[in-house]
Amino acid sequence: MTSKMRIDILTLFPEMFDALKSSLIGKAQDKNLLEINIINIRDFSKDKHKKCDDYTFGGGNGMLMTPQPIYDAMTSIEGYKTAHKIYLSPRGKVFNQKMVKGLTDFDHLILLCGHYEGVDERVIELLIDEEISIGDFVLTGGELPAMVVIDAVSRYLPGVLGNSASVEEESFSNGLLEYPQYTRPAEFMGLKVPEVLISGDHAKVRAWREEQARAVTKKRRPDILKKRT
Ligand code: SAM
Repeated sequence: MTSKMRIDILTLFPEMFDALKSSLIGKAQDKNLLEINIINIRDFSKDKHKKCDDYTFGGGNGMLMTPQPIYDAMTSIEGYKTAHKIYLSPRGKVFNQKMVKGLTDFDHLILLCGHYEGVDERVIELLIDEEISIGDFVLTGGELPAMVVIDAVSRYLPGVLGNSASVEEESFSNGLLEYPQYTRPAEFMGLKVPEVLISGDHAKVRAWREEQARAVTKKRRPDILKKRT
């Protein structure tokens, strides 16, 4: 696992990434654990009107992002050859926690965000190592999926979360969904916190949590329970 990560984002809509300035991801950048660079693909267009899209060969609805601005934007990035280059795409492998952890092996990621009907296939062929989808649905652009990837991956970087044990105990990390959790007060609107959690018996608490995690996973996601056993 890398201790510091650099992420370059290729997009036509840089302003969408303002969200990355806040919360833990913003703090991770302030603490220099994470470096995020946003590259506007349009700046690299050689078209006199800075156009970055065109009609698709063979007909069809909508516009496609042209290869030249993307190619030039990508190859302008220092170290792009050795970076892990991802295209966010509904055609990609569906993102999961195992893939999140796998991405922490790289110290440099480049995320390409598509828009309109997507990108010219030759860009993928020439530049991309992996296509990732964030789920079986179609969004207007790859910007939100890129932020999903960045958020999920950053949580594994040492120092980003206050308590690094929490990533190991969360849903999916051990192949189970998370057990129910409670905080103060011990009774709220007539509902009491399960007795075992205030018993002070750590072994019993662990056993209760394991049992609850199994029960909730069996009920909601029997598919992941099956994969685990
Ligand atoms: N024509 C494409 C198709 O049918 O697969 C959909 C293009 S989508 C409207 C525009 C862009 O949004 C894509 O190029 C991709 O970057 C992004 N996108 C949309 N849905 C996504 C998803 N589920 N996961 C990752 N990226 C997605």
